[in-house]
Amino acid sequence: MSCCSGRENAKVVIVGSGFAGLAAAATLVKAGFENILVLEAKERVGGRVHTTKPFTENIIEVGANWIHGRKGNPLYKIATEENLLCEGPSASKNMCLPRSVTPQDYFFKEDGKQVSTKLVDQVCSHFSKLTDKAFDDELKQKHRNLSLGAYLDDAFSEFPLAATEDGQQVFEWCKRTECTDEACSSLYEVSASQISYYTALEGGFFNTLGPGGYQAILDVLLRDLPSGTIQCSAPVKSIRWDLVRKGHCEDQRYPVQVVCANGQSFEADHVIVTVSLGVLKDKATTMFEPPLPKKKLSAIENIGFGIVDKIFLFFEKSFWPDDCAGVQVVWKEGPEDKDVYESQSGGEAWKKTWFKKITGFDTVARYPTALCGWITGREALYMENLQDREIGDICVRLLRSFTGWSVPEVSQTLISRWGSDSHVRGSYTFIPDGVDGVKAHKALASPLPPKDKCRGRKHLQVLFAGEATHVNFYTTTHGAYLTGVREAERLISYYTD
Ligand SMILES: Cc1cc2nc3c(=O)[nH]c(=O)nc-3n(C[C@H](O)[C@H](O)[C@H](O)COP(=O)(O)OP(=O)(O)OC[C@H]3O[C@@H](n4cnc5c(N)ncnc54)[C@H](O)[C@@H]3O)c2cc1C
Repeated sequence: MSCCSGRENAKVVIVGSGFAGLAAAATLVKAGFENILVLEAKERVGGRVHTTKPFTENIIEVGANWIHGRKGNPLYKIATEENLLCEGPSASKNMCLPRSVTPQDYFFKEDGKQVSTKLVDQVCSHFSKLTDKAFDDELKQKHRNLSLGAYLDDAFSEFPLAATEDGQQVFEWCKRTECTDEACSSLYEVSASQISYYTALEGGFFNTLGPGGYQAILDVLLRDLPSGTIQCSAPVKSIRWDLVRKGHCEDQRYPVQVVCANGQSFEADHVIVTVSLGVLKDKATTMFEPPLPKKKLSAIENIGFGIVDKIFLFFEKSFWPDDCAGVQVVWKEGPEDKDVYESQSGGEAWKKTWFKKITGFDTVARYPTALCGWITGREALYMENLQDREIGDICVRLLRSFTGWSVPEVSQTLISRWGSDSHVRGSYTFIPDGVDGVKAHKALASPLPPKDKCRGRKHLQVLFAGEATHVNFYTTTHGAYLTGVREAERLISYYTD
């Protein structure tokens, strides 16, 4: 069993300080573990939660923005207890805007005409019904083996408005927007049946935090960690495990050694790896020694990790009507149109029209003179290589030509680059067409060495947490948090049993 008798002495290294890593650390500390070290590659904690104050006292969320769901959501609970939610009768999507009228989205077409609100409502609510069927596991047999895009095309074709040009174009917009929720390049690459394993918690999908943003929740977790628990700017290069075998290496007391890029090394009884799936895809074959088992490597390969980027445009003053919640762009031939998708699947023609993947520009809670554009997939990654200036100019041109409004130049831009961030390599997880998500999430989450193969070796040397390891709450902050708690509890019961 363990070389150290109790949990007070157990050495635990946690790799990564996102919600998964911090939740694991906080849970272990609360349970009496005294030797916890969190190694974080970046110079800041939080990972894909990144609250900034770029130009004024108002915050901008470069990463996660909303708490998805209330009932059973540990982060909603913390936010409520600590009074961190946006004030107002209901802390939901647009409630933070100081508007006197109900905000609404303005849908514009390429010719500058607005699509009627009635048509937009009809198409969008039908689209929601169709996606709900997939989420609620109510797909007809003929749709079960299709991609989400192919299922939606087939089901939507029976809807009367599918016969109209505007109906088809708004439908394409709906698919393009759904790519943001699925973090994918295209819905034609996502499994239709597997999304039923994603569980949406009750109580509203878009709960907004107050002036402290997501950082305020991170601060609650950080508050309980002894100083020195977290070491930032410490990228882990390799994790050597299985160092103690029965009858071997008597002087080797610890089964795990974690080595940082700067040469610092730490011995440990256990390491909890919380790096993103994107980082695992990039580094899993070189980071672990001995290598990870085949099952885990296949899970890392098979689960999808897509890119969602935000394009923040800051203006001297707002130029949109008071009741505008966002300008949505509706193309004649958008990238999520089946024919366009198929014609662009090979080749590089899509690079010339990367901006067509932008869904629109939403107003920003707490920032009345800013708009936030959303873009996903390969187009997002392509955009990440462009200069901010060029991206800003293209967005202004789009806004001008679609709305016909007098749109000033942007005064500042802030553009996320999650795909090229070497410590993240994407935004969040999706299940590609043809992949068994539950099996893959479970393989990703299973600790090493596997219990049935321990043969006298130490158990629970390398544990895995992080958003991608949750079967039902993958993609979310609360999913990440709960996986951290899960792995901490695994260790707590190891030292209790
Ligand atoms: C643009 C965007 C919008 C989002 N919006 C929402 C939202 O509104 N609501 C929601 O619930 N979720 C949202 N998410 C998803 C949410 O942010 C993530 O699911 C969650 O934060 C993941 O937490 P994690 O701890 O699993 O991983 P991460 O936050 O990625 O943490 C992993 C940490 O490991 C560190 N690391 C990586 N490699 C190494 C290494 N070699 N050595 C040491 N440290 C390393 C990283 O720097 C990082 O800090 C969004 C994400 C993005 C990108």
